[in-house]
Amino acid sequence: MRIPEKMLAQVLQKAGSPLKEMEMPVPEQGPDDVLIKVHACAVCRTDLHVVDGELADPKLPLIPGHQVVGTVVRRGTNVRVLKMGDRVGVPWLGSTCGQCRFCKTGRENLCDNAVFTGYTRDGGYAEYTSADQRYCFPLRGMGDELSTAPLLCAGLIGYRSYRMVGEDVARLGIYGFGAAAHIVTQIAVYQNKRIFAFTSPGDLEAQEFARNLGAVWSGASTEQPPEELDAAIVFAPVGALVPQALRATVKGGTVVCGGIHMSDIPAFKYELLWGERTLRSVANLTRADGEELLALASKIPVRTEVQVFPLSKANDALNCLRGGRLRGAAVLRI
Ligand SMILES: [Zn+2]
Ligand SMILES: [Zn+2]
Repeated sequence: MRIPEKMLAQVLQKAGSPLKEMEMPVPEQGPDDVLIKVHACAVCRTDLHVVDGELADPKLPLIPGHQVVGTVVRRGTNVRVLKMGDRVGVPWLGSTCGQCRFCKTGRENLCDNAVFTGYTRDGGYAEYTSADQRYCFPLRGMGDELSTAPLLCAGLIGYRSYRMVGEDVARLGIYGFGAAAHIVTQIAVYQNKRIFAFTSPGDLEAQEFARNLGAVWSGASTEQPPEELDAAIVFAPVGALVPQALRATVKGGTVVCGGIHMSDIPAFKYELLWGERTLRSVANLTRADGEELLALASKIPVRTEVQVFPLSKANDALNCLRGGRLRGAAVLRI
């Protein structure tokens, strides 16, 4: 396959400004890198936080996108496991140092020196991307590119958040019913959990979407659920939901914040936390999370609902996400 020297990419030149379609050089590979012809890249709320300047110090100019599905078309000199033509997924965790105390204790998601795809290294809003093969996931046997792409962050972070609530949870609340929630709901229902879905007040369409996926109840985030929850996950980037979720959760239960950025959490009475409730966040992913999730998703199987945009409409996809006008996940077809 002939690889051109230039490619089209959607580029962030300055935080707070829209992406610009530009011709960029096809990236070079280091010894552990593979060049990937991108077929699909799902759009994550984190992309929005990067573009809007809510996350500090992105690489600039930057090609965003960290839910990439594509084919290996060139290999660095050290690449052995991945073969030419292999279909792979590229997630948010681009590489880690392997040396810090977090890497050495099985917590590479917290690595002090991690590199993140589409944030501190160029990502997949482009015709080609380069990725460290050791952090790519082989995607043999998975579904088509467009429906697989959202598993790579919405699915992965959703799954990590879901694992953190503990195994013996029967009644699980989910605040914010977007891409991650629609994947987690399918996993949780498969594992016989009862899902209570909370959306923005008045978002009846998202509430119906949740019930169609098997939620036993859905309603506005300002409502109390009909039963006490054993645990809750907050996917919406809205700090005011944290005391709401604690209020809805039973003694001993856990509330997990799944997002990378959240508005400030308002002060709340200690009694909401009292009773051994746990409040925690989830940061990034480990490669083990990815292997587990992808195996589980193909076994269930998880069916993602996607809204497809061409690469040239990346700004439209981001705007739809910003405005809450998506059902499931936005995916760029490239
Ligand atoms: Zn490290
Ligand atoms: Zn993401």
